[in-house]
Amino acid sequence: MFSRVLIANRGEIALRIIRACRELEIESVCVYSQADADAPYLRLADEAICIGPGPAPQSYLNISRLIAAAEIANVDAIHPGYGFLAERADFAQVCRDCKIEFIGPSPEAMGKLGDKVEAKRAAKAAKVPIFPGSEGAIEEEEEAVEVAAEIGYPVIIKASAGGGGRGMRVCHNEASLRTNLRNARQEALAAFGNGAVFIEKFLEAARHVEVQVLGDKHGNSVHLYERDCSMQRRHQKVIEEAPAPNVDPKKRDSVCSAAARLIRNAGYSGAATVEFLMDDKQNFYMLEVNTRVQVEHPVTEMITGVDIVKATIRVAAGEELGIRQRDVKVNGHAIECRINAEDPERNFMPSPGRIETFEAPGGPGVRMDTHAVTGYTVPPNYDSMIGKLIVHAEDRASAITRMERALAEFRIGPIKTTIPLHAQLMRNGAFRQGGIDIHFLERLLK
Ligand code: ADP
Repeated sequence: MFSRVLIANRGEIALRIIRACRELEIESVCVYSQADADAPYLRLADEAICIGPGPAPQSYLNISRLIAAAEIANVDAIHPGYGFLAERADFAQVCRDCKIEFIGPSPEAMGKLGDKVEAKRAAKAAKVPIFPGSEGAIEEEEEAVEVAAEIGYPVIIKASAGGGGRGMRVCHNEASLRTNLRNARQEALAAFGNGAVFIEKFLEAARHVEVQVLGDKHGNSVHLYERDCSMQRRHQKVIEEAPAPNVDPKKRDSVCSAAARLIRNAGYSGAATVEFLMDDKQNFYMLEVNTRVQVEHPVTEMITGVDIVKATIRVAAGEELGIRQRDVKVNGHAIECRINAEDPERNFMPSPGRIETFEAPGGPGVRMDTHAVTGYTVPPNYDSMIGKLIVHAEDRASAITRMERALAEFRIGPIKTTIPLHAQLMRNGAFRQGGIDIHFLERLLK
C-alpha cells in the first residue's frame, strides 16, 4: 500500500480523499491555490503545499507545479479527484514517466474509453447498447447526411473530445445538419484541441441512467448498480439518486453487466461510470464513459456499502478488488442534493462570499460531504458547488421525507444557495412519482 498520496484537487472532493487516506492509514498531501489558502480542510491533511495563484491554469491545472509538489513531498501516488486533470491521459502519462502512481486508469485505458468515438467502438464490441449513428468520426459532410437520413431526424452532433455539456448541436433537418457540421468542427478544435465530431440519434424525452463500475489490475470488474441523474439544468446534474426508480429489473441487470464487461475488456482499473440515456420503452443507449470518481458517487456508497474512494486507492496500489458481483446488494434508497452557492431566484447567479451561518443537518441516515464551515469564504474562482447533502433510507418515499427533513434543518447565510430549490423539488408530484426526464427541471424553471 502507498505511504503518502498527493491530492491534486480542492474543496469537498479533496476532503473526501483526505478522509479515505486517513482511514487507510496513508499520509495525505493536499495542494492548494492562493485563493484556497484559508480553507479549513487543509488542516486535516498531513501536509499542504501552495502551488500557485487562484486561476486554475496556474495551479490546479498546472502539471509541472503539481509534479514539483509531488516530488518535494515525496509521495507514491496522486489522486486527481474529479474535474481539473482527472480525465487527462497526458497527465496520467506524465505521472507514469515520473514514477508516481496515478490513482485512476492507465493512460491507454483512459484514451480508449475517455474519447467518445473510441468508447462507442469499444462499447459495440462489448455488446453495450449504443445510439444509432455514425461509425467513428465524420470525415465528409455527405457521409453525415447519409447517416442522418438512415437513422432519421432529429440528430445530434457531438465532439469526440467534448465534455461538460459543451460542443453539442441538435439538427432537425438536412440544411441545419450541413451548416452545424462545419461550425461544430471548428468549435471542437478550438475548445478541445480535437476537431473530430460524430452524429447520433437525438432522443427527445429520456432519462439519464448511469452505471458505477470498478476494475482492478488483475482483470476483475464489478458493477455497483445504477444511479438516476435526470434532474439537470444546462446538462449539469442537480439531484442524483440510487437506485433509478421504476426500472425493469431484467433490463437493469443486463445494462449493468454490459457496463462491467466494457471496462473489463478495456483492461480498466479504478472507478468508472458508464452513462446512458433510457427512452420511454426502457431501451438504453450509451452516452459516454467517465474515467474517474463522480460527484454523485456517495449515493452508490450508501446503497451498496462499498467505499468507492478507498477502492480507487487500493486498486491503484495493486490490490485486488476483493468484491464479487454476487455479493453486491442494493440496500434501500439514497438521494443527493448538490448544494451550490448560487441564487435560484436570480437565474442561478453565483453567490460567493463569507459564510456567517452554517448549520448542517444531522440525525439518522444523513451524510454531509462538504468543506464549508462557519467563517469559510467561498472563493469566486471555482465551481459553485460547496457541498452535497446525501440521505439514505429503507425506500424511496422515506428517503424523500428524510431529505425534506434534512433540508429544513439546513441553514447557510448570508450567501445564497440552492437549498430552497431542493426543498421545492422534494415536494414536486412528478419527482415524487419517480421517472422524470432530463428536460423536466428546465421546463419547471420556465
Ligand atoms: P458531456 O460529455 O458534455 O457531458 P454527454 O454525451 O454526457 O456530454 O451528454 C450530456 C447531456 O446531453 C445528456 O445527459 C443529455 O441531457 C444530452 N444528450 C447527449 N446526447 C443526447 C442524445 N443523443 N439525445 C438526447 N440528449 C442527449
